[in-house]
Amino acid sequence: MSLELNIYSIILLIAAFVTLFMALLINQRLDKSVQPFSFTMLAIAIWMAGYGLVLSSTSIEEILFWNRLQSIGLALLPALWILSIIKLINKERWLNTSTLILIFLIPASTLTLIWTDEWHHLYYSSWHLDKSGPLSLLAVTFGPWYKINTVYFYMMLGWGLFLLSSKFRTADALFRKQSNVIMLGALVPWVFNLFYQAGFRPYKHLDITPFTFILTSFIIGFGLLRLRLFDIMPIARERVIEAMQEGVLVLDKQNRVIDINPEMRKIIPFEKRDIIGSDFRVLFPEVYELNIVVDKYVNDVVEVSLYDGEIRKIYDVTITSLFEENSTYSGKILLFKDVTAFHAKEAINQLMNKKDEFLTIASHELKTPITSMKGYLQIIEKISEKEQNPAYRNFIVKANRQVDKLIGLISDLLDVSKIQAGKMQYNFTEFNLEELITDCITFSENNSPSHQIVVKGNTKLQVIADRNRIEQVLCNFLSNAVKYAATAKVVIIEIAVKDAILKISVTDFGMGISKEKLSSLFQKFYRIENKEQQISGLGIGLFICHDIVSRHGGEIGVESEVGKGSTFYFTLPLTNKTSFASQSEYVTASTQ
Ligand code: ADP
Repeated sequence: MSLELNIYSIILLIAAFVTLFMALLINQRLDKSVQPFSFTMLAIAIWMAGYGLVLSSTSIEEILFWNRLQSIGLALLPALWILSIIKLINKERWLNTSTLILIFLIPASTLTLIWTDEWHHLYYSSWHLDKSGPLSLLAVTFGPWYKINTVYFYMMLGWGLFLLSSKFRTADALFRKQSNVIMLGALVPWVFNLFYQAGFRPYKHLDITPFTFILTSFIIGFGLLRLRLFDIMPIARERVIEAMQEGVLVLDKQNRVIDINPEMRKIIPFEKRDIIGSDFRVLFPEVYELNIVVDKYVNDVVEVSLYDGEIRKIYDVTITSLFEENSTYSGKILLFKDVTAFHAKEAINQLMNKKDEFLTIASHELKTPITSMKGYLQIIEKISEKEQNPAYRNFIVKANRQVDKLIGLISDLLDVSKIQAGKMQYNFTEFNLEELITDCITFSENNSPSHQIVVKGNTKLQVIADRNRIEQVLCNFLSNAVKYAATAKVVIIEIAVKDAILKISVTDFGMGISKEKLSSLFQKFYRIENKEQQISGLGIGLFICHDIVSRHGGEIGVESEVGKGSTFYFTLPLTNKTSFASQSEYVTASTQ
């Protein structure tokens, strides 16, 4: 096979190469919605290259061979063009098997007929080699199928142009420009082709259509570079509506359903899913509030309850009336937003608030009788001292301890309510740390005499803080250390001061806490489940400690290892009193 390149064929081959490059660029770099355009460009490249090689050939066999290559591009181009446009305007749903067969039937036939033409002459009725000019050209007379293919060609082109122009007529300026570029690129070769069909052939048997594609490639290339053609494409509104989490229903002016998105199909009763064209009222006949609003020309939001089988769902339905430019009413859009979860959350919140309220009231109500019980117990204790009956004393000590425990629980519950309401008050005074530690140790030893509490570090410090609250934190740490390390003998309190920060740690050698649970310890009502040892508690002590320490500007934390024990610690800034007093919510007591 010998090719004699000439200026015409070289131009076509270079143009084919550039077009192929653009096809690859579109395919690799750009959005899926414009990828079919890369195949359209590929068909153009094949057409150009094929014809370039036809023009370089000297024998009839070679010409026919390259002509077959060219025919692949020529036959497939209109089908690929229309597919690209359909995809671009987001009407893929049109592309079912039958439309695809319809679109590709003629190209496939054309291709087959060109390749087998020598047997039937349906595409070319005759041909011969014309060597009269500077190039060896194929002089052809076209057969009947050529006419069919030409009609198909122009139909596809017209359809594509129509779809493009109607889609982007009202689009933003950039998208309009982009669509104009595509239309211009497509129109140029067809205009020349039209001349060719009409018999205007200045170069005799030379087909100028493949040359005019050079202009098309140039226009598309300009679009790619200057208008970011195919780079930013509008997301079709239909796609947005389809992807919406809310149900969308569009009604015409007679309240007939004309569009519905997939989410809305889930909302309407199953048996009514084929609803397009029916009256809206048949959808939800029992939901009067909706049917009433739909009958009016107003915008409104109504809350409706709909049933999905047994499950009741609540929707906020936004109804928007649509009007044409000349104010004539044209229909409605209904937006169904599922607010069931929101309602459930609100109900839970209300319940939680009621529970908190109950807790506050109950704790208050319990505190009064318990306090007076404690008073009576003290009186009985005094009387029993005179009686000198050890059995009585023992019972009274036990009763006292239980009442103290009850008082502790109730005041913890009250503290939780105060923290939640932001009403916890702090009373800052200057006090001696050693005394506070001694008080806590006494309290702890009264409850659990079997543990030895060791103090390490310098306790002889003056601290400015709310003494009762800091005592509450330390006592809570100590009572936990004793409670959750029942079989251990020692608990260590350690005092350390560094960079004007006081750190108080309480270490026990008990059960310890696993790593993943450490971060939840300071949450309200959090308790680690312990099936072997049933240790009583409410899970609010550490929550209160956390609030107290934070409000003092300190830090609270824990280090622990399962089976070895835990160290709970908190820090307090050893800053002067005025810096605490400046925080308005703190009530500062006078200090001597
Ligand atoms: P309570 O002790 O009343 O349950 P807290 O808020 O004081 O409430 O403690 C929360 C949880 O932290 C406890 O239920 C327990 O599981 C865990 N915990 C606290 N201190 C210790 C400790 N020293 N050792 C092991 N676990 C502890």
